[in-house]
Amino acid sequence: MSTKPALLMRLLASSFAIAEKAQMIIHQVLSGGNLHIVEKTGANDLQTKADRLVQQSICLSLARKFPKLTIIGEEDLPFQEIDEDLIESGQCEEVLKYSCPVQYSHFKEEEIVVWVDPLDGTKEFTEGFLDHVTVLIGIACGGKAIAGVINQPYYNYQAGADAVVGRTIWGGLNLGVFGIKVKEVPAGKHIVTTSRSHCNKLVNDCISAMNVDEVIRVGGAGNKVLQLIEGKASAYIFASPGCKKWDTCAPEAILHALSGKLTDVHGNSFQYHKDVKHVNSAGVLATLKNFDYYASRVPESVKMALIP
Ligand code: AMP
Ligand code: MG
Ligand code: MG
Repeated sequence: MSTKPALLMRLLASSFAIAEKAQMIIHQVLSGGNLHIVEKTGANDLQTKADRLVQQSICLSLARKFPKLTIIGEEDLPFQEIDEDLIESGQCEEVLKYSCPVQYSHFKEEEIVVWVDPLDGTKEFTEGFLDHVTVLIGIACGGKAIAGVINQPYYNYQAGADAVVGRTIWGGLNLGVFGIKVKEVPAGKHIVTTSRSHCNKLVNDCISAMNVDEVIRVGGAGNKVLQLIEGKASAYIFASPGCKKWDTCAPEAILHALSGKLTDVHGNSFQYHKDVKHVNSAGVLATLKNFDYYASRVPESVKMALIP
C-alpha cells in the first residue's frame, strides 16, 4: 500500500509545477507587447501585468490545494474574480521521488508560511535584462526558511535556437538542491554581486571597503543567489534596506541547503514567521563559501547605519 507523501514534498512538488506555469505566464505577457507598468513607491519600484498575474496564479493555486497555509505575496492586489486559466493543479512527480527529511515530516499546513515573489527583478524585466528575472516561492516553518523553488524564466534565452529556455531549481534543508550545478569561484578571487538599480552611497561604501577584484551589478535577489551557486560571484552584498522577506526566503533556503549562508549585514539570521516585518532593514550578505571573510569586512559605519 502506498502512503501519501509528506506535506513538505507535496508542497514542493506543487510549487515546482506552479513556478513552471509562472514562467509560461511571464513569456505570454512579454510577447503580448504591453507590460502595463505601474509605479508602486516610485520609478525604481515597479509592477507589471506579469507580476500581477503570476502572483494571482501562485497564491490561488497554492490556496486551492493547501487551504490552511499562510501565503504572503509581494503584490498588494484588490480582490478579483479567479481566472481559472491561472490555476495550476499539477505537481512535479520527480520531486515526489525524494523522501521528506524526518525532522520535517510532521509539519502541518497551518504551521507553514509561504513567501511569494511572483517576479523578482521587475525593473530589469522592463528594461530587457530578461535573465535577471526569477520567480521565488519560499517555504518557512517555525520562522525558518526550510525549502524553496526558484524559476528563471529566461535562463538560456540568448543561447541559440536549440537551447531550452527557462529552468526551475528546487531544494531544501537536509534534502539537497536540484536543477542547478554548483560551481566555485576561482580560488583567491573576490567577486561581489550587488543591485543594478537600487544602489546608494551606503551600498557602494560597503563594497569599496572590501577591496574586491570585481563588482557585478545585476537585478534580482534570486538571480544574485544563483550567481553565488554557479561560481559567478563569491558574495552578494546589499547594505541598504529595500529587499523584503519574499526576496530572500526561497534563495536563503536553497543557499543554506548547499551549506551557504544568507543574513543581514550584521550576520543576523532572518525570521520568516507570518507577523515578521517585511523589509530586510539591515540589508543582505550572502555567500556559498567564506562568509566570515566578507562579514568581517563590513565597515562599522555601515553597520551603525543599518538597524535590524
Ligand atoms: P535588486 O538587487 O535591486 O534587484 O533588489 C533585490 C530585490 O529587492 C528586488 O525585488 C527589488 O525590487 C527589492 N529592492 C531593493 N531595493 C529596493 C528599493 N529601494 N525599493 C524597492 N525595492 C527594492
Ligand atoms: Mg523581488
Ligand atoms: Mg517582485
